[in-house]
Amino acid sequence: MIREIVHYDAPVLRAKGKEVGAITPEIRTLVDDLLDTMREERGVGLASQQIGEALQLAVIDITGVKERPSKMWIKNTPVDPEEYMPLVLINPVLKPTKTKVVSHEGCLSFPGLVLDIARAQRVGVKTRTLDGGTFEFDAAGLLGRAVLHEVDHLHGRLFIDHITAKERREIREDLEYIKRANRFRNGRRKNDS
Ligand SMILES: [Zn+2]
Repeated sequence: MIREIVHYDAPVLRAKGKEVGAITPEIRTLVDDLLDTMREERGVGLASQQIGEALQLAVIDITGVKERPSKMWIKNTPVDPEEYMPLVLINPVLKPTKTKVVSHEGCLSFPGLVLDIARAQRVGVKTRTLDGGTFEFDAAGLLGRAVLHEVDHLHGRLFIDHITAKERREIREDLEYIKRANRFRNGRRKNDS
């Protein structure tokens, strides 16, 4: 089911996600909802906070994005990332490199806002899987960036937290616009129901 995406500055976006316990039918439904909503919005990733659920749960799919390549390794052997999409991250633990690279980034919770963000060049990921196992891989390029962005969401961190105070002042009006539009949207929804 396609869910409504929560926009800045809804409090749930600042909530640290609870660890996922057993993989219940409710968790599977939530994963399906995340995938449906991410695809509808043509995003490359979506965290549970963005549909209003503060859990350690996110999905990623970089399939078909040719202009921003992704790299993936399993046990240090390069693999084709598209063969592992969509990725479901459950209670993920990351090991990012200290070396960072800057690239542009958007977020479905900040419609229209694109920022240059420095992120680790490569990240090691350990995640639980829906069948109860664990999956370990390394990611770089767009996939690495998407993992780092989504796992930030799971801890209540947003991409605007990575910019300087000066950059923040420069986008203050954009943020105010998103906030105002969000209040209007929420108000309208209440009146409709
Ligand atoms: Zn985001």
